Amino acid sequence: MRISTITNWAYGATVCLTLACGAAMLMASGADKAERQAVAQRQLFDQLSEEVEIDAWALSDLARLYIISPDPATLSEYRQKAKAMRTIEQRLASLQDSGASAEELALLHEGLKLGDALQDEQQTALAQAERGDTHQAISLLYSRAYEQELEQMQGQLDHFRQMLDSRAQAVVNEATQKSQKLRMLSEVMVALTALLFLFVLGFILKRRVLRPVVRLSDVVNRLASQDYAVEAPAFTHVDEIGDMAQAIRIFRENGLARQRLEKERDADWAIRSLLARMTQRLQGCESFDDVVNVARLFAPNIAPEIPGRLYVLERDPRELRCVAEWLSPQGSPAPFHPDHCWAVRRGQSHPPVNGEPDVTCYHLPEGVAAQALCIPLIAQGEAIGLLSFQNITADTAAARAYLELMAEALALALANQRLRDALQEKALYDPLTGLRNRYHLEDILRTQMSQAMRSDAPLSCLMIDIDHFKSINDRYGHEAGDEVIKSVAAVIRQTARDTGMAFRYGGEEFLILLPGADEEAAFACATRIDEAVRALTVRFGLAELGPLSVSTGVASYPQHARSDNLLRAADAALYRAKELGRARIVRFGKLRME
Ligand code: GH3
Ligand code: MG
Ligand code: MG
Repeated sequence: MRISTITNWAYGATVCLTLACGAAMLMASGADKAERQAVAQRQLFDQLSEEVEIDAWALSDLARLYIISPDPATLSEYRQKAKAMRTIEQRLASLQDSGASAEELALLHEGLKLGDALQDEQQTALAQAERGDTHQAISLLYSRAYEQELEQMQGQLDHFRQMLDSRAQAVVNEATQKSQKLRMLSEVMVALTALLFLFVLGFILKRRVLRPVVRLSDVVNRLASQDYAVEAPAFTHVDEIGDMAQAIRIFRENGLARQRLEKERDADWAIRSLLARMTQRLQGCESFDDVVNVARLFAPNIAPEIPGRLYVLERDPRELRCVAEWLSPQGSPAPFHPDHCWAVRRGQSHPPVNGEPDVTCYHLPEGVAAQALCIPLIAQGEAIGLLSFQNITADTAAARAYLELMAEALALALANQRLRDALQEKALYDPLTGLRNRYHLEDILRTQMSQAMRSDAPLSCLMIDIDHFKSINDRYGHEAGDEVIKSVAAVIRQTARDTGMAFRYGGEEFLILLPGADEEAAFACATRIDEAVRALTVRFGLAELGPLSVSTGVASYPQHARSDNLLRAADAALYRAKELGRARIVRFGKLRME
């Protein structure tokens, strides 16, 4: 029942009880009044009957006195008293007015009649005494009959008084009882009102209002301080407090939902800023290894419960090779053919929706495939790698969008890296021969020289120039000359493959750096090249170009050359070789001895 209904009922009941209590108290005071009236009436009747009795006895005594000692004063007193006495009718009328009943009036009437009769006899005796017939008078007023009449009158009056007493007592008793009952009734009503008040105060105010309100206020305070962990009280009463509790429950649920959304938004924000940071770092990567390291570091932070592997697509042999893994994924990281992955085959994330039945990738171990996600790394519409994730469950599936963003960023970074490598290759390698170019030489020479100086090891340099090359160009054309350059370069690369680094130094000039090789070893290497070039046959169309020969200058650090003039020394030796007629090897050391 609603509190307002209970309160209205209690209020109505209290008003009714208070009114009834007031009525009972009024009625009780009415009964008291009746009681007082009965007592007053009895007093009045007692007074009247006593007056009659006293008057009768006084007249009788005066008459008796006079006849014994006839004193005119006594007689005059008698006569005055008799005259002053009211008649029977007057007395009865006043009693009737005062509420005497007919029966009581009849009794009193009898008594008064007896009093009148006695008065008559007294008159007679007084008259006799006046006449001197004292004896007759005495015998009349002192006779047995007169005495009996007096007693009879007295009895009649006593009876009247008794009757009055018993009636008055009955009225008093009845009034007292009524008054007591009414008082008790009013007390009961007061008690009921008090109980009702206590009930309203105790039950409604304390149990139904105060306690729940205190609980609700506590909950509201905690909700106000964003503490949504507080349990909203489950008041099931269909009343105002129940409505408030329901409203607070809804408020809390809304708060929890908002908090959850805020948490999700914050988490989303954190992951997006991580992704942004990862993208920035990827942009700053200088090498392929840098990209791999960034992926290895950021992936477990972006999806902390999702282990995974990063694969890159190798061209020769065509396979996906694992370059990084995080959070200990199951299965082997061995390379596999791209066709074993549905994501790489389709060029889209696989499976498209987690949890739905779908074919699984063949490169994944049993038991993992059902909860896996493969995202191909696509650049310019071509797969260049793969991100393979495990443990994609209902709880972790939400991270899928981030993983796809990560794959996009990684694909771009790897593609950029490839592009960069290609550009670098173009910038540092000669496109005709595939040998390192002159720009590359500067860096490498600096590194090799400082290494040689640090380790106190020799570093030798061969400067090689094709003899009479211009005439080949002139006779067979530029393309034929290119073929010769390519063939000689191949010989040089092949010979220096294990021991040194070969460069195309200029048009038909080559340079080889031989770390750890002294002049002897460098000379031996130059000899091998010289012999291989002599044995070379280069065909261009139907023509056979050659015979070919090279002139070579050899210089070695620290034997004969200083660290800062190794190249110049080799060049000087080469120049000497040309001077001496070409197709030979000249050592810088020997040159100085000449
Ligand atoms: P020497 O024996 O004194 O070295 O005589 P040479 O003819 O080999 O030397 P020279 O410096 O007189 O001529 C070099 C020529 O090589 C000049 C140039 O046109 C040619 N040349 C330079 N680079 C290339 C190239 O990439 N391809 C072709 N086909 N010819 C080139
Ligand atoms: Mg030259
Ligand atoms: Mg030349």
